[in-house]
Amino acid sequence: MNEKPTISNLAAIDAAHHIHPFSDMKELNAKGTRIIERAEGRHIWDSTGKKYLDGFAGLWCVNVGYGRKSIADAAYRQMQELPYYNSFFGTTTPPAILLAQKIASHAGPHMNRVFFTNSGSEATDTWFRMARVYWKALGMPEKTLVIARRNGYHGSTVAGASLGGMKLMHEQGNLPIDGIHHIGQPYWYAEGGDLSPEEFGLQAARELEAKIDELGEDKVAAFVAEPIQGAGGVIIPPDTYWPEISRICKARNILLVSDEVICGFGRLGSWFGYQHYGFEPDLAPIAKGLSSGYLPIGGVLVSDRVADVMVNEVGDFFHGYTYSGHPVAAAAALENLRIIEDEGLVERIRDDIGPYFAKGWKSLEAHPVVGQADCVGLIGGLQLAADKATRRRYAKPDDIGSLVRNHCLENGLIMRATADRMLASPAFTITRGEVDEMVGTLSKALDHLAETVTE
Ligand code: PMP
Repeated sequence: MNEKPTISNLAAIDAAHHIHPFSDMKELNAKGTRIIERAEGRHIWDSTGKKYLDGFAGLWCVNVGYGRKSIADAAYRQMQELPYYNSFFGTTTPPAILLAQKIASHAGPHMNRVFFTNSGSEATDTWFRMARVYWKALGMPEKTLVIARRNGYHGSTVAGASLGGMKLMHEQGNLPIDGIHHIGQPYWYAEGGDLSPEEFGLQAARELEAKIDELGEDKVAAFVAEPIQGAGGVIIPPDTYWPEISRICKARNILLVSDEVICGFGRLGSWFGYQHYGFEPDLAPIAKGLSSGYLPIGGVLVSDRVADVMVNEVGDFFHGYTYSGHPVAAAAALENLRIIEDEGLVERIRDDIGPYFAKGWKSLEAHPVVGQADCVGLIGGLQLAADKATRRRYAKPDDIGSLVRNHCLENGLIMRATADRMLASPAFTITRGEVDEMVGTLSKALDHLAETVTE
C-alpha cells in the first residue's frame, strides 16, 4: 500500500486523474508527462534521473533558486506557531503586516499599501474591481472601462483571461467580458514596418490615446500593461513607449496599472519594472517573485492616490480571499525578500550578472536564424527569423519555437518558446558558467534549426 509508485505508474495515474493547466491532455496522455522530482540551485531532476539547467526559474518565479533551507525553515516555524488566521473581521497576523511594510519599502515613495492575494490572476481581479470602486467613490461611476493590450497576459480567471490579449483564451468561453478593450502591443520586430523602434514605440503608445478618445475619457477607468510582456514572448518595448503611455494616462486622468507579476522583485535589475522604465503606476499586481514560488502568494500594490480613496472614502471593500495574507506564505515571502536584500541580488543583476547575461544573449544575434536577441536584467527574448535582412519570419512560427525548445530540453536546458520567440528568465543566482552553458546549448539548438528548416 505504501510502496513508492514507479515512474510508469505515476504517468498512468497522471493520465487517469490529473488535468494539467494550458495542456492538450489527449496529446500529453499519449506521450506521457515529464515528472520533476527534485531541485537544487538552478538545476532540476526528472524522474528518470535526467538533470536540467533551469533557464526559466520554474515559471518566471524561482528567483532565489531552489533548495533554500531558510525559506523552508521560516515556513515550518510559522506553521507551528500559527498555521492560519485570516485578515477579515478586524484581525490579521504579524507576517502579513511585516510583509506589507517590507514590500512598500521597495516600491517607491508614492506606493505604500498592499492588498494580498494568492496568485497573479487574483491580483488582476483585485485591481480590476478596485479601479471601478475608486472612480465610483470619486463620483464618477461611469468610469468603468479598462484598456489592455493584444498579446498581453494577466492571468486565467475570467477577468484575467479577458484583460489578456490572447485570442485562443478569448475563444474559449465568450471572452472578453464586457467593458474590456484592447489596443496593439509595442512589438517592433513583427509590427513596426518601416518605422524605427523609437517611432514605433510612440505610435504604439498613441493607440492608447486614440482608444480613450473613441471610448470617451469619462468612461475609461484604467489601462493595464506589463512593463515587458512576458508570456507574449518577452516583448521589450522601445524606450519611447513607457514615457508616452505615462503622459497619456496622466493627461486623460485614467489609472495606470503596471502588471509586475514577472518584472517585480528584481528581474529587470530594479525592484519593480516601473522603476526601470521610470514611471509611477497607480496600481501594480504582484506574485511569483514575491515568494520565489516557494508558496503561493500575490497581491496588489496600491498607490497613495488610490489608497486615500479606498481607505478614507469607500468604507467596506467587499473583496478578499480566505488566504489573503496567509501567514505561512507571508513568512516564506519575507524570508525570500530578506535573501534578495542580504545577497544584493537586485544589484547583482543590475551591475554584474545582468550585463554578463546581456553579452552572451546578444551574441546570439550573429546567428543566421536570429533576427533579434534582446534582454533587460535577467529576462531575454530571442526572435527567430527566416531572413534577417527583411525581418521575414518562418512560415510556421509555432513549430519553429517548439523545435528549438525541444532540442534544448534534450540537451539538458529548460527554455520556453512563444511561437517563434525563445524566452529566458533564469534565477537571480545563476553563475557566469551557467550563463555560458545556457547560451552554448541554445546556440546548438539554433544550428539544429538552421540545418532542419529553411522556410
Ligand atoms: N500577470 C502576468 C504578467 C503573468 O505573467 C502571470 C502568470 N504568468 C499572471 C499575471 C497570472 O499569475 P498566476 O498564474 O499566478 O495567476
